Amino acid sequence: MPDLSASPFPVLTLNEAAAARVGRGHLWVFANDVASATGSPQNGAEVSVRTAKGEVLGTGLYNKHALIAARLYSRKSESFTPELLRERLAAAIAQRDRFIPGSTGRRLVFSESDLLPGLIVDQYGSVLSIQLLTLAMDQRRDAVVEALRQLLSPAAIVERGDTPAREHEGLPQVKQVLFGEVPELLTVDLDGLQMRVNPLEGQKTGLYLDQVENWRLARQFAPGRRVLDLFCNVGGFGINAAKAGAEYVRLIDSSELALSEAVLNASLNGVTEKVKAKASDAFQYVRSLPEQFDLIICDPPPFARSRKQLETALRGYREVNRQCLKLLSPGGILISCSCSAAVSHADFDKMIAISARDAGKTVRLLPGGVQPLDHAPLLAMPETQYLKTRVVQVI
Ligand code: SAH
Repeated sequence: MPDLSASPFPVLTLNEAAAARVGRGHLWVFANDVASATGSPQNGAEVSVRTAKGEVLGTGLYNKHALIAARLYSRKSESFTPELLRERLAAAIAQRDRFIPGSTGRRLVFSESDLLPGLIVDQYGSVLSIQLLTLAMDQRRDAVVEALRQLLSPAAIVERGDTPAREHEGLPQVKQVLFGEVPELLTVDLDGLQMRVNPLEGQKTGLYLDQVENWRLARQFAPGRRVLDLFCNVGGFGINAAKAGAEYVRLIDSSELALSEAVLNASLNGVTEKVKAKASDAFQYVRSLPEQFDLIICDPPPFARSRKQLETALRGYREVNRQCLKLLSPGGILISCSCSAAVSHADFDKMIAISARDAGKTVRLLPGGVQPLDHAPLLAMPETQYLKTRVVQVI
């Protein structure tokens, strides 16, 4: 037996396969990875994660009620103190300041990728919108708010915990203003586009910040073209396309609220004339074979939240992608996205290939989109590489 008396924390000893995976840089310990637990680990508190030989793999935060029993935040043996939290936040902010300076709409903290598992912080101008997705982070709400106020002096901090992810940790969904006052009219400049943000009522934390860089693809391919922005949310792709000189742009989303913001964004950017918005189920809309387009953006919500839902999700993607490909003119371009972590890049490419075959079209792959710098995934954790954006052209 390894000598555990030296550990400052309760110890989770992993089985061999899990120890190898965590040793390679994966930061999650699943409940069934644990061969033994000693020293009474406490919910939300530190645990030392070790191999069967007693070697330290790192320190994590524990939740005995979750499928992910511990999430590592360090490769060493160290406490998760308010100082550590503050240092990690400062490092995450410095990383964005270095690579995306001047942006007023960006993700400042991306959970595991910033070694702050369970914490998301998005910045919209003077307002921060945060998510505390684990029990451990939920317990540290006050420390997070305090550190963010010290580092950034925001006008307001909003918590958007209205996501099912919290339920996996045994936490209730919450949506609240944690500090300050949210301005009624908040506008941010996103890569040259003026966008209204509603941190309390918008989807996710207010906007889909992960797509901002991919909106450039719409600018690149839009000039002179007829454009369809399917699942447009507040119109990021479509309004960029209109601004770049599209002939016209159709915006489709099932959410009336998102569409009304999209219409507002069109006017903020002086492209109202070019944009037609319609509240509709995207599947029904494309099935009615409305008209031909030269550029279609298809960015559905995550159909699969787990591997179990994968088959059903892929069927949904196939159906809508097939219809989009049918609607494209010769030489037309489809920008197809998936934000389901359960769908791998390989699954996604295969899905597009099958959709093209079913639509009777041959497509070539053009240089594609990215998961942007402020959402940079961890190489050793495929779970963090959730966003796929492919650009294909009908030959
Ligand atoms: N492209 C957007 C993000 C899209 S998120 C951007 O770049 O910002 C997915 C969107 O799909 C959400 O706005 C949601 O309201 C919408 N949606 C979900 N189900 C839908 C359906 N069946 N038909 C149309 N829109 C749908």
